[in-house]
Formats: sequence, structure tokens, C-alpha cells
Amino acid sequence: MLEQIIKNIEEYIKYSKDNGASRVELSKEVLQQIPILPFDLSDKPKQTAAPQEQTATQQPTYQTAKETLEQNTAPQAQQEQINISQYTSAEEGMNKLAEIIAGCTGCSLGKNKTNFVLGEGTLTPEIMFIGEAPGADEDKAGRPFVGPAGQLLTKMLEKLGLPREEIYLANILKCRPPNNRKPNEDETKACISYLEAQIQILKPKVIVALGGTAVNSLFNSNFKITEQRGVWMDYKGIPVMPTYHPRYLLRAQTKRWETWYDMIEVFKKIKKTLPEGIK
Ligand code: URA
Repeated sequence: MLEQIIKNIEEYIKYSKDNGASRVELSKEVLQQIPILPFDLSDKPKQTAAPQEQTATQQPTYQTAKETLEQNTAPQAQQEQINISQYTSAEEGMNKLAEIIAGCTGCSLGKNKTNFVLGEGTLTPEIMFIGEAPGADEDKAGRPFVGPAGQLLTKMLEKLGLPREEIYLANILKCRPPNNRKPNEDETKACISYLEAQIQILKPKVIVALGGTAVNSLFNSNFKITEQRGVWMDYKGIPVMPTYHPRYLLRAQTKRWETWYDMIEVFKKIKKTLPEGIK
């Protein structure tokens, strides 16, 4: 425990220095927060995937089917492809979406996938996280954020008292780009309407966009994540918090603090109670 606290204090000092501070505040309040910060630098993510092993299914099943979907407000192009207004529940809408994606030929990525990755979590999420695209582990498992980056994200969420079952995790692309390269423009264009439909179905109170690709694909923009993180945006009436992608945070350990603070802002935005001791 003491070792962990010392590591966290070191990390905090390093973070402050990297961000231009010449003095570091170690008040009682700051010290009270440091031990509960979630990042242990020696805690390398495991190479193997899937927090809970699960055989991938191309037809995910969902826990609840409470919501009646609103009348379709999707843009014209999307209405033709995914008419969510015809579904009477979020569960039905998501299952239909999975069916459509399973047969998608909108880009070439589908041909080489093992599994597509629709997303995972509750169908009534307060917070929806949007990443970039499935990596090797996700492609294998058919589930989002199960590799090293996903493990870091999961750990951080746990420290915030947010189990994965209480949120929804999705990506801009549903199929893995080769060698985990960034999605290209054509792939994004071909896939983005699936994510738009997911957002319409789930109606989260807030979205967390993980990394520049997620932000720029959602807003068709060209922001630098280093400049845009922590700045609230608006996606069709839903507040969006851009923050760093956990893959970046695996390397840039001192940046983890910024994402931690962004998440605290997200909690405040939706008036969600933070675990004791976190302000
Ligand atoms: N990175 C992402 O952006 N999404 C995943 O699902 C996994 C890694």
C-alpha cells in the first residue's frame, strides 16, 4: 500500500512537472486523492485478452428491452439503410443492427475480420464510450476493449465505480483494420451510420470520445486531441467529452491524469456520485 502511495505521488509530481509546474501542491486534499488514483506504473497490462473469456457470437444478446424507440430522426441516407423507427425496443434495434453489420460489404475490412465488434454494455447507459476500431484481441473475441488498452480502460472505470455492465462501449469501425492502422476516410464513411444508429437507440446522457479518431469521425472535424480533450462538445444534443485513447495512455503514463480528470468532469455533468474521496 505504502509503495503504491509513493508511486502515485511520484507520478503526480512528474505529471505536474511535465505540464509546466515549477511547484507542486501536496496539500491534505491532494494527498487524500493520490492514493486512490488508479494508475500503478508497474502494473503492465496482460498480453492476453478478454477479462471474461467468452466465445464470440455474431448475434449478441442484450439484457433489457425497455425502451420504445423514438420516431426516426436519422438523416436520409441512414434511414434507407437502418430504419430504427421500425423497431419497438433497443434490444430489437441492436440485434437488427448486428444482422446488418454481419452482412456489410461497405468496405473491404469485413472480408478479413474474424468477428465484427458491434459494442457491449447496457442498453440504457448513462455513459457511452466510443473508441476507434477493434484491435487483434477484439477481432478475436468479438467484443470491444478487451486487449491491453481495454484492460487499462476497464481498470480506470472500476476505480470510478463504473462496471462495464453499466456503460456502453462501441467504436467508430466495427471491423479491424489491418495491423491496427487508423481507419481511413472510406471505411469511416461506410461505417459511421452504424454508430449513429447505436447512439439513437441507446440515447446516452453523455458520450466519452476516446482519442482523436473518435472525436474527428463523430464531428467530421480535424481537432488535435491534445487541444480538444477536456473541452465539452455537443453531438445532436448529447454532451461529448473528448479524452485520450487508452492505447495512448499505455505509453503516455503521465497523461493518464488528464483522462482521470476528464472522467471526473463527466460524472459531474450527469450528477453521478463519485466514489468516496474523489472530487
Ligand atoms: N481500441 C479501440 O479503439 N477499440 C477497441 O475496441 C479496442 C481498442
